[in-house]
Amino acid sequence: MFEYAPAPESVRPQINEHYGLFVDGEFVDAEDGAVFKSVNPSTEEALFTVAEAGEADVAKAVAAARRAQEAVWGPMSGSERGKYLFRIARLLQEKAREFAVAESLDNGKPIKETRDFDVPTAAQHFFYHAGWADKLAYAGLGPDPRPLGVVGQVIPWNFPLLMLAWKIAPALACGNTVVLKPAETTPLTALMFAELCQEADLPAGVVNILPGAGATGAALVDSAVDKIAFTGSTAVGRAIARTVAGSTKRLTLELGGKAANIVFDDAPLDQAVEGIVNGIFFNQGHVCCAGSRLLVQESVADEVLERLKARVETLRVGDPLDKNTDIGAINSAEQLSRIRALTETGAGEGAEAWQPACDLPERGFWFRPTVFTGVQQSMRIAQEEIFGPVLSVLTFRTPDEAIAKANNTPYGLSAGVWTEKGSKILWAAERLRAGVVWANTFNQFDAASPFGGLKESGYGREGGRQGLEAYLDV
Ligand code: NDP
Repeated sequence: MFEYAPAPESVRPQINEHYGLFVDGEFVDAEDGAVFKSVNPSTEEALFTVAEAGEADVAKAVAAARRAQEAVWGPMSGSERGKYLFRIARLLQEKAREFAVAESLDNGKPIKETRDFDVPTAAQHFFYHAGWADKLAYAGLGPDPRPLGVVGQVIPWNFPLLMLAWKIAPALACGNTVVLKPAETTPLTALMFAELCQEADLPAGVVNILPGAGATGAALVDSAVDKIAFTGSTAVGRAIARTVAGSTKRLTLELGGKAANIVFDDAPLDQAVEGIVNGIFFNQGHVCCAGSRLLVQESVADEVLERLKARVETLRVGDPLDKNTDIGAINSAEQLSRIRALTETGAGEGAEAWQPACDLPERGFWFRPTVFTGVQQSMRIAQEEIFGPVLSVLTFRTPDEAIAKANNTPYGLSAGVWTEKGSKILWAAERLRAGVVWANTFNQFDAASPFGGLKESGYGREGGRQGLEAYLDV
């Protein structure tokens, strides 16, 4: 293998030493003065401090959002709202490099992913929804769809800016105002986005950002909002559903997954191997729709595994700001210990772990790409979301067995099918209990395409015309 010289990203974004909460168009400290630190997971160094929102701050932000919704944003014409969204989208594009570096610093993901995926796709969501803002009456949701009001949004740490865009762009396009809580470990790009809203002259109170931990999220869920949109773990999603039950609040949940990536014996194997690698090692495997279970037809299993291991040997693990890096840092010490604990159960239950011989940096949170073979359906590594760079490989003999195994988890978010036969793709897609099925590709996203789960992966759709429904009273 060629040795690569380091190719460090040279742009450094302006990161403040301290950020406040973004409430009613301004940065303010928390009522009780609480603060916390955000850490760079690749070095364990503190990046900045940030105010932590408590119940009183949540109430203030929701009241500001309510005023803005009733007085300014709700009554505004769709075409005017669209102009703001276009402006935000263009500003995101202009500042794409700074946002990409900031995201890599705060989250640990490689710069090539933040630069080529997270930030451009976030901008795309604003462009896409800007286009809908004055066409809602033609979305097939009735002649006069109305906004819901104030929306509370809670997002995870795996795609901080992109999840913000998935949440905020459709909500604003539909005339709602928002109070958003970023994840505790990754508030940076949400705070930079708040600065961008100021620069775009977005009316005060339309977007409010409340950094904090789980308690802040719980307070937001319990507050006087009209709808909650949540992305995160199934356990927290369940708790939120319990809180919201019996109220008039609307709820959409985008939760975990344990996707099957199915490789049939007639698949183009080199392409499939690229898809397997992308499916599980993209974003360190911190992906709700990750192809974390490889189901490979027995007759080609040895060949696929051999090619897969050879490919994984070439992956570069290390400095997220190096443009050659394929796998960055694990987002937090907690997530690293969760990944370790689950992989230990895999070995304990009799599966065989394989890892490439790569060096890991001394400081920071790191985990080698891992491939488990000899995995049985009942093992925890075949059932639970590991949310790390860990692939569980199972085999099957017949297409029916592949479908039965693929559907045998509590989740139903995504699936992949690799075969050269179009008829087999359609046959499998009809039978897979998953919100998204990719064929001969994996992890493809587009703002125009709805995304969401079945079973314990949640309900509601984000993106596309279907995603608008979650933000409209129709
Ligand atoms: P969580 O579901 O706890 O986090 C998602 C968001 O919810 C965060 O902003 C979190 O805040 C917030 N939150 C936590 N508790 C509550 C609550 N009671 N009420 C309202 N909001 C709350 O995921 P974790 O970060 O703890 O990760 C745990 C596991 O969940 C991972 O290992 C992974 O398996 C899975 N996960 C799945 C995701 C997905 O998209 N499918 C995304 C993230 C995690 P805070 O950041 O402070 O915790």
